[in-house]
Amino acid sequence: MTGIAENLRRVRERIADACRSVGRAPESVCLVAVSKTFPVEDIRVAVAAGQRVFGESYVQEALPKIASLRGETLEWHFVGPVQSNKTREIAAHFDWVHSVDRLKIAQRLADQRPLHLPPLQVCVQVNLSGESTKFGCSPDEAASLCDAVAALPRLMLRGLMCIPAPRDSGPQREREFAQLRNLLDKIRVGSSISLDSLSVGMSDDLEPAIAAGSTHLRVGTACFGMRT
Ligand SMILES: *Cc1c(COP(=O)(O)O)cnc(C)c1O
Repeated sequence: MTGIAENLRRVRERIADACRSVGRAPESVCLVAVSKTFPVEDIRVAVAAGQRVFGESYVQEALPKIASLRGETLEWHFVGPVQSNKTREIAAHFDWVHSVDRLKIAQRLADQRPLHLPPLQVCVQVNLSGESTKFGCSPDEAASLCDAVAALPRLMLRGLMCIPAPRDSGPQREREFAQLRNLLDKIRVGSSISLDSLSVGMSDDLEPAIAAGSTHLRVGTACFGMRT
C-alpha cells in the first residue's frame, strides 16, 4: 500500500512524462482527482499534497464532502450520470459538469445555476464505444447539442467528454480518443464557440489520452487506490 501523496506524485510524474514525449506543456493538462467512494479524510490528504481539483460521480455522496471542505479553495467536477432530479444540487455545488448528454439536462442546469455563482462549466458527453450504454449522446447528435447548450445562459460550454467501455482494448480506446478529438475540431470549425476542453483519460490510459490532446484527466484509482 502506498499513500495518497505518493500516488499523486506518481500520477503527476506520468503526466509530465507523457506531455514531454508529445511536446505538450504539463500545465495544459488538468488532473481531476476522482474521489468517489473515498472518505473526506482521503481528500484532505490529497489537498495537503497540493491537489485542488476533485471529481465526484454521486450527488448524495459528494455534498457532505464538499460541505466539510468548504474552507478550502477547491474545484469540484461532476463526472457521473446526471439525473433530472439531481440537477438543482449539481448546479448549486459544482464548478464543472463533464457529463451533459441531453438538452433537457442542460436546460435544467442553466435554470438552476445560482445567479451569484460564475457560469457552470460543461462538457457534452459523447458515446463512442458503440456499446448500448445509456450515457452519452451519439457522435451525430454532438454538434447540434453543443450549439443548443452554448446558447443557454449561466452555462459555459467547454468541450467534449467520453468514457470508453471498460472492456474496450487499448487500441479501441485510442481510436475513441482520436474520434473525440476530431469531433471537437469539427465542431470548433463550424461554430463561434471557443471549445478548449477534451475530457478523456483515466488511471489506465492517461498517456494515450494526453497524446490525443486531453485537457482533463479523470483519475481515481491511481490517486486514491482501488475502490471496494
Ligand atoms: C470513476 C471514474 C473515473 C476514474 O476511473 P479510474 O479508472 O479509477 O481512474 C473517471 N471518470 C469517470 C466518469 C468515473 O466515473
